[in-house]
Amino acid sequence: MKIAVSQCLAGEACRYDGGSKPNAAVLELVRQGEAVCICPECLGGLPTPREPSEIIGGEGADVLAGRAKVLNRAGQDVSERFIQGAYAALAICKAQGIGYAILKARSPSCGTGKIYDGSFSGALRGGDGVTAALLKQNGIQVVTESLRPYGGQRGEKAEVL
Ligand code: SF4
Repeated sequence: MKIAVSQCLAGEACRYDGGSKPNAAVLELVRQGEAVCICPECLGGLPTPREPSEIIGGEGADVLAGRAKVLNRAGQDVSERFIQGAYAALAICKAQGIGYAILKARSPSCGTGKIYDGSFSGALRGGDGVTAALLKQNGIQVVTESLRPYGGQRGEKAEVL
């Protein structure tokens, strides 16, 4: 069975800043033909590079339920883009029978267990990104590139990978 991976972990320059975050384990999965690369923010129609975004007032499940928003640093509401990208990622996973995903830590789309807290300060809170939340709601196991669910305390500062 193939594994969904965040496209930026596979070395694609799809991050908000136009960069990538290549990860050795993910690159090996790509080399073996086991990975299906997804970038939910790209699938949602956002350009690269783009303003960084964070979830305000909740986590990914709250955005999906309409209880929280995703705003970019310029203050624009990009919630619909994030939701659209999450459902596009889910459709890819369903079409390929994927039950496991390795997604980029802390991202408002891909983060699992911990995400940036909406203050654009680097601080973290507990919770999942929008895509990670939707995949989990649909029975897909999600881990970060450290290959484990992200633990830790609310408000912890982001580590540099
Ligand atoms: S949305 Fe996910 S895959 Fe795309 S750049 Fe952000 S962390 Fe990487």
